[in-house]
Amino acid sequence: MVSRKRATATTSKRTTPRTTPRTTPEQGVRSRQPVAVLGATGVVGQRFVQLLEHHPWFHVAEVMASDQSAGKSYREALNGRWKLPTPAPEDVLHLIVKGPGETLRSRILFSALDASVAGELEERYARRGHFVSSNARNHRMDPLVPLVIPEVNRDHLELLDRQKFEGGGIMTNPNCSTIVLAMALAPLHRAFGVVSVLATTFQAASGAGYPGVPSMDLLGNVVPFIAGEEAKIESETLKILGRLGGRGITPAEITVSAQCHRVPVLDGHLVAVSVKLLRRATQKQLVAAFDGFRPLAKLALPTAPELPLLMRPEQDRPQPRLDVDRAGGMGVTVGRLRPCPVLDWKFDALGHNTIRGAAGAAILNAELLARGERV
Ligand code: NAP
Repeated sequence: MVSRKRATATTSKRTTPRTTPRTTPEQGVRSRQPVAVLGATGVVGQRFVQLLEHHPWFHVAEVMASDQSAGKSYREALNGRWKLPTPAPEDVLHLIVKGPGETLRSRILFSALDASVAGELEERYARRGHFVSSNARNHRMDPLVPLVIPEVNRDHLELLDRQKFEGGGIMTNPNCSTIVLAMALAPLHRAFGVVSVLATTFQAASGAGYPGVPSMDLLGNVVPFIAGEEAKIESETLKILGRLGGRGITPAEITVSAQCHRVPVLDGHLVAVSVKLLRRATQKQLVAAFDGFRPLAKLALPTAPELPLLMRPEQDRPQPRLDVDRAGGMGVTVGRLRPCPVLDWKFDALGHNTIRGAAGAAILNAELLARGERV
């Protein structure tokens, strides 16, 4: 039996959620809970390090990566690979990178490990009593592992209590496109029931890690294939929108068809969605469902955006360049809502793939856990 209370952060509740968490002068590093970042040298690992720099509850005390990086300082291991516009935090640059499987003392581990190693390593750490908040695909569809978007299905965290890791646990956040789609569908499913969905994605280069797709394949081009991506969107969406019961999660009865494309955009996955609803709805009702979607408003989680979904009225939004950083990269922006002559309605949804779709999502999940939230 896992006690989530044990992971509770030592901090007071805030009333106004911020999108860019800052540490107040009286909340120094010592009062923040130490956490570790696994796969810290990669694209998502760097995002964790960046987003946690001023986090009011957590601070990066340990970093882990492959044998190639182990034993070096984080600065040496990066070897010029830091690709974010803000400088890497000095205190993290001095940390010595640990190797895979090495002992860690942090209770909460954020995993940005390559999927080739994430499955086994995350289980090993969970068995040693750590809580792993993972981005990797390996455990997302395990029946006892919660696949969580706090705004959508935080009740699924209950599955942690059914895991068999002596005192530890694994929770996951969805694939970076799935999270955008599932967040946009959630209020519609709740209000009108979603029957079927066509989702066509336009996915950023940073979604492939670093160095990712060779520039000569991507510049001035669209690549209509991303290995495994369509299957992930089609299965994960149903688990997220599914119902938790005594026997686990019953997937939502929705048919999802996904088509994925890599496009020469740096950050931001755009999803063109057509949806068929169970109950008739007017455009006004759909807009009201998107606008009224504020399920975390009362929880005061530092990384939770005030408006998880924002409906833009302009005919040419959302756009990655203009909208990807909304709410510190944690907001999903929706637009171009209009009738669909094949299904019922169509619209576009956009989210930041390494923040809302990866590191920010895992941090928000850990905040929920640290807050000891039981729903
Ligand atoms: P990445 O840039 O290729 O980084 C991979 C990380 O894993 C590096 O830190 C690497 O360390 C480490 N690693 C590789 N082999 C290892 C081993 N044998 N033992 C321990 N560590 C090892 O990949 P990424 O894009 O950040 O993705 C990381 C994970 O997040 C993947 O599972 C990916 O599917 C998932 N994800 C990515 C995105 C995105 O938008 N990029 C979104 C959602 C989920 P070294 O530097 O030492 O090799």
